[in-house]
Amino acid sequence: MTRREWLQTTGAAAALAVTPNAFAADPPGFTLPKLPYAFDALEPYIDAKTMEIHHDRHHKAYVDNLNKALEGTDWLKKPIEDVLRHVNELPELKRQAVINNGGGHYNHSIFWQIMGKGGGKPSSELLASGGWSFDDLKNMLKGVAMNQFGSGWAWVAYYPKDKKLVLVGTPNQDTPLRHGDMIPVLGIDVWEHAYYLKYQNKRADYIDAWWNVVNWDAVNERFKMAIKG
Ligand code: MN
Repeated sequence: MTRREWLQTTGAAAALAVTPNAFAADPPGFTLPKLPYAFDALEPYIDAKTMEIHHDRHHKAYVDNLNKALEGTDWLKKPIEDVLRHVNELPELKRQAVINNGGGHYNHSIFWQIMGKGGGKPSSELLASGGWSFDDLKNMLKGVAMNQFGSGWAWVAYYPKDKKLVLVGTPNQDTPLRHGDMIPVLGIDVWEHAYYLKYQNKRADYIDAWWNVVNWDAVNERFKMAIKG
């Protein structure tokens, strides 16, 4: 088993290193991570067609456009986290493309990992870090997700400055990583492409259903890695 295969089969270990770019094939560049389950694995909550289009077309487009934006630069050899943290060092004309497509790549890589077979629950340490009950967490994150005007994400993220979990919304494909070095622990995609085929305009129904496919083992593991820094 190669290191890459090992990372793909151990979602927990790969939790923070969403792009094992150090092992990227020649030529350097970001690669679309394999979906760690079948397209229909999240049925009936998220339909197979949505998953296929979301992963194979939307996420792939972010990866392709990120590679295009950074073509011929050493940034293609760096982990995506470093690229996003240092986006202001890029030529001004490239920045927005990298925020959009690099953020899209990073955010979706996390999103696939923190979904899967539902069940389980957040660890008591995770809930204590945010000062929530499980119901608080669900209700408040839903509030953030519903209040995100247009496309974007709602996150549970670790904020190193205060050493605690916070809830945060980001528009489009912006990511908490670019704001106070927050580390996303869990995030829900509220772009219409994430739910429109099955839920049409009913974002609230999609959010309620989404909790059934959260892989809490993966989320708890991301939290543990986040607090280690
Ligand atoms: Mn998406």
